[in-house]
Amino acid sequence: MAPLEIPENLLSLFLKRSCPVCGGERDPGETFCEWCSLRLDPCSSLHRSIDGRRIPPPVTGNPKNDYDTYGIPVYSAVLFAGLPGELIRRLKFGGERHLASAAAKTIRSFSPVLPGPGHLLVPVPVSRRRKRERGYDQALLIGRAVARLTGCRLLRALSRDHGPSQVGLSNEQRRDNVRGVFHVSGRRRVPPGGTVCLLDDVATTFSTIHNAAGALLENGAGVVYGLTLAYRRKAAGSIIRNELTIRTGG
Ligand SMILES: [Zn+2]
Repeated sequence: MAPLEIPENLLSLFLKRSCPVCGGERDPGETFCEWCSLRLDPCSSLHRSIDGRRIPPPVTGNPKNDYDTYGIPVYSAVLFAGLPGELIRRLKFGGERHLASAAAKTIRSFSPVLPGPGHLLVPVPVSRRRKRERGYDQALLIGRAVARLTGCRLLRALSRDHGPSQVGLSNEQRRDNVRGVFHVSGRRRVPPGGTVCLLDDVATTFSTIHNAAGALLENGAGVVYGLTLAYRRKAAGSIIRNELTIRTGG
C-alpha cells in the first residue's frame, strides 16, 4: 500500500460517520443524522401515472389496457417536503453528486416495493443537452446506487429529446411538454415481456414518468411500474409560483 493512501482511508472512515446532508454526526448503519431523519416522512400512497390520483394496488390485466386507463402504478419512498426536497434540489442543481447514494438508501429504507433481481431498472433520463450542462444525470446516479443495493440490473433504455424545463409550467403544459419526448434506444432494448422499474427522483404531476412508461410499453416491455424517491403534493394554490420557488423539474 502506498503511504499516501493511508490518510485517504482515514478520511473515508471519518466521512462515513457524518450525515451526507448536514455534516453532523450520524450513527454507523444510519443514512442520516437523527435530526435529518426527523425530516423524512414515508409516502404511504400509490399513484396512477395517468393523472396522479391514488389507486388501490394492484393494477392487473392487460398492460396496454391498464396503461390507457390508469397509466402505470407509481410508488414513492418519501414525501418531498422536508429533507427529501432539500436533498433533491442539492443533487439536481447544486452539483452534490454524493447525495445520490443517500437517495438510494432512502429508497431502500422507505419504498413499499424494490426492484427484484429479475427486474430491469430504467432511470428516467435527462436530455443529452441537460446532462452536458449539469455534468451528470441525477436519476442515473440514483439508479446505479439502487442497483448496487438491490442486485437488479440497470438498463439505460431511454433517451429524451431536449425541451423546455418542466419548471414553471401548469399541469396541462407539463403533460404536453413531455409528450413523445422519450425514445427507446435500439441497442438497449428491454427484453420482450420484461418487468421494468422506471426510476425518477420526484413525481409531481406524473406526466414525465407516464410518458417514459408509454415509450417502454410500446417497445416490448411487459410490465412497467414507477418508483420515485419522493412524491410531491401539488400545492393548493398556484403550482407555477410554487414551482418557481422550489425549482425542481419532474
Ligand atoms: Zn443531518
